[in-house]
Amino acid sequence: MATSIETMKSFMNVLKQYANDTTTSGITILDNAVRAVSRFNGLQDAINSFVNDVTDTSRIPDTAQRLKETCGIVLGANHDFNADTGAASGANAGNGTVKNAAGIVPETGTLTELSMPAAGSTTTHSYTTSDGQTFSFNIQWPTSFAQVVDRKWQTFDSYNPEAWTTVALTDQTFVSDLNNNEYTKTYMAQQLKTSIEAITKGMEHWWASESAKLIYDSYGVDFNGKTLKVGYFVNQSNIQADTGPADKNDNDTTPANVIDMAIALPVYGNIDPVDVNGNTRIEGGTQQCYLDRTIAHEMVHAVMQGNGTIKTYNEKTSSVVGMPEFFTEGVAELVMGLDDYDANNVQDIQSLATNREKLSNAMVLAAGTGTDVRYTSGYMFLRYLCQQSLDSQSADTGTSSADMSSAQEALSHIDAKGEDYAQSLLLETLSGHSAARAASYASAGDKVMNYGASSSSLDASMPSFWSNSPTSLIPENGSQDPILVSSQSV
Ligand SMILES: [Zn+2]
Repeated sequence: MATSIETMKSFMNVLKQYANDTTTSGITILDNAVRAVSRFNGLQDAINSFVNDVTDTSRIPDTAQRLKETCGIVLGANHDFNADTGAASGANAGNGTVKNAAGIVPETGTLTELSMPAAGSTTTHSYTTSDGQTFSFNIQWPTSFAQVVDRKWQTFDSYNPEAWTTVALTDQTFVSDLNNNEYTKTYMAQQLKTSIEAITKGMEHWWASESAKLIYDSYGVDFNGKTLKVGYFVNQSNIQADTGPADKNDNDTTPANVIDMAIALPVYGNIDPVDVNGNTRIEGGTQQCYLDRTIAHEMVHAVMQGNGTIKTYNEKTSSVVGMPEFFTEGVAELVMGLDDYDANNVQDIQSLATNREKLSNAMVLAAGTGTDVRYTSGYMFLRYLCQQSLDSQSADTGTSSADMSSAQEALSHIDAKGEDYAQSLLLETLSGHSAARAASYASAGDKVMNYGASSSSLDASMPSFWSNSPTSLIPENGSQDPILVSSQSV
């Protein structure tokens, strides 16, 4: 019997073995990690079992009951912000303490009494983990808190970081998207400055270090010695933030020391100036959305990029297969959880648990980021894996030599299969960057559109999601190639 934290630490330990490896397929690495923590003989075996168990209404007709028994997921009630979020370290995942939407990233004190860091400065932060270790990291702040990066409304097709410019916030007006509909928000430059200040304070005093602590306590991976470069941008729709190595060339997935984290003001241009969690459910916002949870998600990307455990590749210049999006994003969601009402989580999980085809399609072994449905499916999958370990390993009495030999056979079989995947899958590669999920809270119309596209098109043999929804994802990095999509033929 292993707790969810033990399972995830074991899982990460396998990934850590590949920290300096840039030739092994991300799928092969995950095969090995899945085998290390479960009874499954590889990633696809676990996926098949997961999809079947979670959607098998003949065995457990009630959706909530089925999610609870198979994944340990306990869906929160509508408007209940005290429910456990399902975080790997929380009550639903079997660790006793209820961690709710506001509490998953803990804060003490009030936002208004906090100081701002000096623009252009680098500040040092430390955190002490539950097992008593103290780690430290740096945050490098923008040269001005009164200017932002203008991303020129680039889409996937027009993606070009070299065209981005820096603009001073004076008296301009900004919009959240170019849809010009009822969901489009308008921001005054002064409003953006106020939000930048609130976000900067939250990041400096709580969110980055508390997230790093949460990630270590949940997964056993640290951010020691790393530098986080924080930035703010405007004029790009549909993403909440993105995070990627600042000091690495394409296809170099070895540990990065400097990691960019850019926060999207089209989504976070108007947050509660006093709420310590970065609440966006103000002034017309219809759903609660805590920015500190998004920061925790982004920090998982940063920590994994910092220790070489996340494997994404630019497939234009590399034949190495990256890890699938459902994992790279699901593992970021798992640290803060999706069981609760916040941000449409419950409906998203229910829709997958009641639609086998949709869930199966969401579990395709394609890389990428920004595909809403894969964030949720990947989270559910990891909860399933943790729950299976919790349930099944207590019955283990040891590994016989016969088990070992069949495990070896399975290993070679799946390694061969991994190469097939490499040849046949459509892969979306992001130059090592991971954008947060599409910003559904700011633009519900996009959410609906993205979901329709996702549910009908996510298939290994079909075009990628962004050909249906070209603005749903843009990664950021001025120094690296644009994101690439291409199809490798068998
Ligand atoms: Zn992400």
